[in-house]
Amino acid sequence: MAEVKLENICKTYKEGTQAVKNVSCIIEDQEFVVLVGPSGCGKTTALRMIAGLEEITSGTLFIDGDEVNDLPPSKRQISMVFQNYALYPHMTAFGNMAFGLKIQNTPKAEIAERVNEAAKILNITEILNKKPRKMSGGQRQRIAIGRAIVRHPKVFLFDEPLSNLDAKLRGQMRIELAKLHQKLKATIIYVTHDQVEAMTLADKIIVMNQGEIMQIASPMEIFQNPQNKFVAEFIGSPKMNFISGTIQKKKNQFLFQNENIQIDLSALDLKSIQKYSGKEVDLGFRSEDVYADSNDLNNWFSLEVNVVARELLGNEKLVYGDFNGSDVIAKFRSEYEEKLNQVVRFFVNLDKIYLFDRTSGDRIY
Ligand code: ATP
Repeated sequence: MAEVKLENICKTYKEGTQAVKNVSCIIEDQEFVVLVGPSGCGKTTALRMIAGLEEITSGTLFIDGDEVNDLPPSKRQISMVFQNYALYPHMTAFGNMAFGLKIQNTPKAEIAERVNEAAKILNITEILNKKPRKMSGGQRQRIAIGRAIVRHPKVFLFDEPLSNLDAKLRGQMRIELAKLHQKLKATIIYVTHDQVEAMTLADKIIVMNQGEIMQIASPMEIFQNPQNKFVAEFIGSPKMNFISGTIQKKKNQFLFQNENIQIDLSALDLKSIQKYSGKEVDLGFRSEDVYADSNDLNNWFSLEVNVVARELLGNEKLVYGDFNGSDVIAKFRSEYEEKLNQVVRFFVNLDKIYLFDRTSGDRIY
C-alpha cells in the first residue's frame, strides 16, 4: 500500500474550465480518504488525474514518494471502481474478475487464487459462476470491487460507487466498504457528493467546492469545527440553521442583531468577535442544539417561530419553524408535541453557535 501526495495540482480543460485549482493534500498509507463536494466541484477530475486518466495541467503527483505525472495508468498500480460497474455481460463473475489479470498474462493458477481470495473477502464465492444480468445491484457492485482487489493495487480509487443502488442497499454497502477497508488495510480515495457516506467511511474528509479544497479533517472535526460556512452547511443532516445579521457594539456589550432579533453575545469569547464590530455575519446553529424550553440551558437565546412542518425520524423528529421567512429546523424527541401553524419558541444554547463572515464565509467564532 502507499501514500499519495498532491502538490499544487491544477486542471484546466481545453475550453478553459478550471476544474481543479491548486489542490495540495496527502493521503496517508492505509488511510480511507473521502473527497466530498457538490456536483461539478472537481472531485472526479481530481480522482481521474490520480488514476492517470486525465492529464495534470500543473502541479506534481506522488505515489509512494515517486513522481507519477507522466506514468500511464497501467503503471501506477492503482485500481479504480466506477459508478457504473462496466462489467462484461457475457462473462461470469469469475471471468470479469479474472479479465485484467489474464491480459497481463498472469499464470492461471495465480489468477484462480487471487479471484478466490477476493471472492472470500467479499462473500461472493457462491456467485462466481453467475453472469451479471442474473445478479442484484449489490452483487454487481461487489464484483466490480473484486475486479479491483485481485490486482493487488497500491491504491484503490472509488468514484461514487454506490450511487446506482437503492437507499437500503447503499446503506448496507457503506458498512461493507468500511469493513472491507479494515480487512484490506488499503489506501482508499473515495469520491462522493453524499456527506453521509463521507461521515461514515472516512478517516479523513476533504471537502471541495468550485475546484478548491475547503477543509481537510476527520469527520468529527469537520462536523464540530467547520472552517467556513460552506463546510458548515454541506456537512451534517439536516443542514445547519443560519440567521443573517450584523455584530454591534453597545457600550461594553457585543450584540448580534437584525430587524427581528437581538442576541447578547457577551457570554462568548469577545476577543475573537470584537474586531468584527459593524460587520455582516451569519450566525449558525445545528438542529440538535435547539431546545423546546430553556430549563437546562445556561446561556441561551430564543427565536419565535411559526411551526410549519414536521418530519418523523423514529425516536426523533424534525420540526420546521418559520422565522421571518426562513426555515429554522429543530431536532426534538418524538414525544414532543408540535403545534402546527402556531407560534412557539425555539431555544438555542449560545455555547453551540457559530459565526461566519458574510463576505468571505470564513468562520470567526
Ligand atoms: P459530479 O459529482 O457531477 O461528477 P464532480 O465534482 O466530480 O461532479 P467534475 O466532473 O470533476 O466534478 O467536473 C468539474 C468541472 O469540470 C465541471 O465544471 C465540469 O463541467 C468540468 N469538466 C469535467 N470533465 C470535463 C471535460 N472532459 N471537459 C471539459 N470540462 C469538463
